Amino acid sequence: MRMTRYFLPLLKEVPSDAQIASHQLMMRAGMIRQAAAGIYSWLPLGLRVMQKIERIVVEEQTRAGHLPMLMPTLQPATLWEESGRYSDYGEEMLRITDRHDRKLLYGPTNEEMITDIFREHVHSYRDLPLTLFHVQWKFRDEIRPRYGVMRGREFLMKDGYNFDVDQDEAIHAYNRHMVSYLRTYERLGLQAIPMRADTGPIGGNHSHEFLVLASTGESRVHYDAAILDLKLKDAAIDYDSHDRCAAVVAEWTTPYARTEETHDATVFADRVPAGRRVESRAIEVGQIFYFGTKYSEVMGATVTNAAGQSVPVHMGSHGIGVSRLVGAIIEAHHDDRGIRWPLSVAPFQVGLVNLAHNDTGCRTTCEQLYRELAGLGLEVLYDDRDESPGAQFASMTLIGLPWMVAVGPRSLAGGEVEFTERASGIRSSHPHETAARHLADRIGLPPV
Ligand code: ATP
Ligand code: MG
Repeated sequence: MRMTRYFLPLLKEVPSDAQIASHQLMMRAGMIRQAAAGIYSWLPLGLRVMQKIERIVVEEQTRAGHLPMLMPTLQPATLWEESGRYSDYGEEMLRITDRHDRKLLYGPTNEEMITDIFREHVHSYRDLPLTLFHVQWKFRDEIRPRYGVMRGREFLMKDGYNFDVDQDEAIHAYNRHMVSYLRTYERLGLQAIPMRADTGPIGGNHSHEFLVLASTGESRVHYDAAILDLKLKDAAIDYDSHDRCAAVVAEWTTPYARTEETHDATVFADRVPAGRRVESRAIEVGQIFYFGTKYSEVMGATVTNAAGQSVPVHMGSHGIGVSRLVGAIIEAHHDDRGIRWPLSVAPFQVGLVNLAHNDTGCRTTCEQLYRELAGLGLEVLYDDRDESPGAQFASMTLIGLPWMVAVGPRSLAGGEVEFTERASGIRSSHPHETAARHLADRIGLPPV
């Protein structure tokens, strides 16, 4: 992508209402624009990142055997009257009336709608287990929308719902989700810690939140520092194996890690040595629930089990905050000059900078590198604007692409171009003829 043809409205000033780094950087890097309190337009650069996150989320859910679908943003109030949540949900629900005076709402979550689909079409244990998910916009009329996309009113969420014949199977679905979430956050370049959590208005008695430690986070958490050393060992986990999933979950949920709501200071002190007790702030990037037959009983979602009896189906729900993750990743990966995207979600992998626009050699080399890099499958943002080198470097550093390739007359005289890795700041020079291939190898793309 050539910058002269791109839409990248970089801001020089930090907007005064942006209080935390991710919000400031998203505004300055031209990723989002506020439309109303807690409601944002996603500009091209921001959308590229959000779509990469979404793709990773969908891939990991699909790998776990969960099926993608899409439910609408608007829901009939009648479904929520059936579950009792139309009145219980309170002021966060955005209620809408259509021209025929029918009551609708902009969905804050989808338990009722998915249960309605299930009860209509599934009647036998033979069709289970079943997990359906979608990535769809939600609306919650948050009393205090803030921190940009971190606490929006309209936000993108992946929400999934499992249906199982009994509690054992449903607990397996819970464990499967925990493993798939851990894998997802790891691919996003985040260390997200599962912490025992409250169930809130979703209901039920079994829940974990996934938290990314950050001083700007809105959640207060308490954990055993030993949990930070855990790594997901088995990349190719067998999601059908109850034992394998249960073992991963046991490993990750044994160390003490709880949100403020479930924290117990006595248990904390008993179980964790003083030197490892940490209290911190964190960002909630996901939550999983098992709530049994809470919705299936009131809404009549039953299946016949192997013994021929009709039983209410066991359910859980599972959410990942896709749009919030854009902010959370920035909170975890930035410095005072800008963003430092992990490769997996970077809007472009490489920034190409021409330091001398009037120099024919620099221009020709840039054009050639641009073609070669793109030909090797790399996503390149080429700064072909007529700006000073200082301004170009500052823009690239702010946007935070993992690699920058600079072409300037001095190094080109020696046949070389300069690479800078954003994460480490390390610079190196390479012959321009082989620069594209060398970078593709570093980034790890297969040879074409
Ligand atoms: P919170 O406690 O932050 O209000 P929640 O517990 O109500 O969130 P869930 O119902 O668990 O949210 O939704 C699943 C995920 O959706 C959350 O873990 C979070 O990442 C994301 N999310 C929830 N509310 C918002 C919001 N207002 N803006 C952006 N993302 C959100
Ligand atoms: Mg939650």
